[in-house]
Amino acid sequence: MSGILEARPRVGYYYAGKPKNKLISDQLKKYVVKDYLSQPVVVKNEMSVYDAICTIFLEDVSTLFVINEDGDFIGVCSRKDLLRASMIGDDIHSMPVNIVMTRMPNLNYILENERVVYAANLMIEKEIDSLPIVNKKDNGKFEVKGRISKTTITNIFVSLFNE
Ligand code: ADP
Repeated sequence: MSGILEARPRVGYYYAGKPKNKLISDQLKKYVVKDYLSQPVVVKNEMSVYDAICTIFLEDVSTLFVINEDGDFIGVCSRKDLLRASMIGDDIHSMPVNIVMTRMPNLNYILENERVVYAANLMIEKEIDSLPIVNKKDNGKFEVKGRISKTTITNIFVSLFNE
């Protein structure tokens, strides 16, 4: 009855009177990204489009996060980016992913202390399937720590039903 009934000394339990959607939003606010992040698949910017396609199949993800030689997060390469690159007709064995990826300043990312509901909202707003979870480095650039995807959100939704 958590949230529905509240207790006060010498009064006992009483109806908290919160509307149902307030109870749900209070519950959702407790979900923080760092508790639900999954392993990111990170590749170097010189990886070929062909190898990136193989990596997407082998790792069973929809998006690769791209880093430079210093480990800085510099891009995102999705299935459609790779499909588009394959359709152009150039040699995908020699074409690197940094030609086809989405890059700064157009990248969307979140910090691990953000709420899951914020991540979900960002994915809907930007029409993307996943978000990298990043840390700011001393050089002012970002490193990729994790990943949150629409699948993560679906799993949380189902776990709420089973609670
Ligand atoms: P798919 O290509 O499999 O449909 P998305 O919908 O996630 O995957 O990607 C659509 C486009 O948005 C792609 O061009 C991709 O590079 C870009 N994109 C994906 N994730 C991000 C992100 N976190 N920040 C910026 N752009 C992104």
